[in-house]
Amino acid sequence: MESILVSACLLGVNCKYSGGNNLCPAVEALKDRYHLIPICPEVMGGLSTPRPPAERQGDRVVNKEGTDVTEQYKKGAEEAARLGSLFGCRSAVLKSRSPSCGSGVIYDGTFTGTKIPGDGVAAQQLKALGYTVFSEEELPTSGV
Ligand code: SF4
Repeated sequence: MESILVSACLLGVNCKYSGGNNLCPAVEALKDRYHLIPICPEVMGGLSTPRPPAERQGDRVVNKEGTDVTEQYKKGAEEAARLGSLFGCRSAVLKSRSPSCGSGVIYDGTFTGTKIPGDGVAAQQLKALGYTVFSEEELPTSGV
């Protein structure tokens, strides 16, 4: 069975910045066809839960209190890539619009809900490694 990386919050793990999750039944159902490897780059990078929300500001990531958390985001991306390598993953299903996991669209760094084209830090790194990255909103119906 092929292994794929999945944002842990989409599987119901309470690792979201608010302390909640983003459970997505369509993602959870992938477990029947794939070996799911849960990742939470923000927690794996050393951040606590709950934590202040953060957004990308160019190459930096800054939380709503003004603290630069770029290094934690980079570390989390590296740890996610390490797990993906260990399990031979080539695809990932990641939470949309997250500053770590977002793919194609993220928030613009002003904490106003404004969206811009871009990737979260972990999604960007996985794509650079050749991964195919889907958000939970763009799961192909015929399979990942
Ligand atoms: Fe979910 Fe990714 Fe944010 Fe973790 S870093 S809570 S897996 S969106």
